[in-house]
Amino acid sequence: MVRICEDSIGLNKTVFGMTRPICKILSIFLTITMLSNAAHSQTPTRAPKIKTIIVDAGHGGTDQGAKGRYSTEAQITLNLALRLDTLLRREMPETRIVMTRTTDIYHHVREKANIANKENGDLFVCIHVNAAPPKKTVVGYKSVAAYKGKGKSRKKYFKKVPVYQSSPNPAHGTSTYVWAADRSDEKTKGIIEDERYESSAEVMDVPDVNSPEAIIKARLWSQKFFKNSVRLASMIEDEFVGIGRKSLGVLQRNHMGIWVLQATNMPAVLIETGFITDQDEEDYLNSEAGQIEMTRAIANAVVKYKQMIDGK
Ligand SMILES: [Zn+2]
Repeated sequence: MVRICEDSIGLNKTVFGMTRPICKILSIFLTITMLSNAAHSQTPTRAPKIKTIIVDAGHGGTDQGAKGRYSTEAQITLNLALRLDTLLRREMPETRIVMTRTTDIYHHVREKANIANKENGDLFVCIHVNAAPPKKTVVGYKSVAAYKGKGKSRKKYFKKVPVYQSSPNPAHGTSTYVWAADRSDEKTKGIIEDERYESSAEVMDVPDVNSPEAIIKARLWSQKFFKNSVRLASMIEDEFVGIGRKSLGVLQRNHMGIWVLQATNMPAVLIETGFITDQDEEDYLNSEAGQIEMTRAIANAVVKYKQMIDGK
């Protein structure tokens, strides 16, 4: 505590040019300020904002998601999610980690969202594996028989049709999706037709995203959670680049499997950890080294995100 109005220091009438009553007031004010500062510094650190993290292994059970040469998306996502769960529990023991599934079981996307909401999640991390359809290229033409006309005037003729050869799609790399509520339908179409579009399994049983209720929910989500979702998504992709993965970046989608993000009342990201249709990436995601590297990268990003949100 500081006394600035003491007579003992020889400032009987004025202190630094101030009269004694003013000085007294100033003294009281300073004392209060200092006491309040002291009280503040003794307050235990603020309660963390991120108390519960939901880890969702995409697909499962009757819905195996995309298929590779020897593995399925549901198998890979479960392995990655289990490893991520272990890592996060170790790294942030004060945070509750909730898995939507720990075995090969099926949940409708609605159930996944319900679990996340019921558990009061503060963050929803969805793990998926991407797939791209084989590339079809025209390698030549062949003649096939066709007929025109009816009855006696029916005539046989030959027409040329293209001969296709399919080859594995070269698409590879990681991407992290956030729900985009403001995308026009036109743009959504463009994204669906994109080669990054996941397997048809992603479109199963998705509720109508164009219903008035869904639109209101999406708008709310985008206002409240969009910014933080993008922040985490960027952190995750940065970590992937750090371990030498090709990053396709942070992407927005408001359709298909990504619906589960909008249905959760919390910031949420959906990580496409690579393409199961790319031989190297399927091998990488099934290898122990690859799984350790990927989950380490995701955990690093989640820890950094939590530190940022909790202000540490
Ligand atoms: Zn998926």
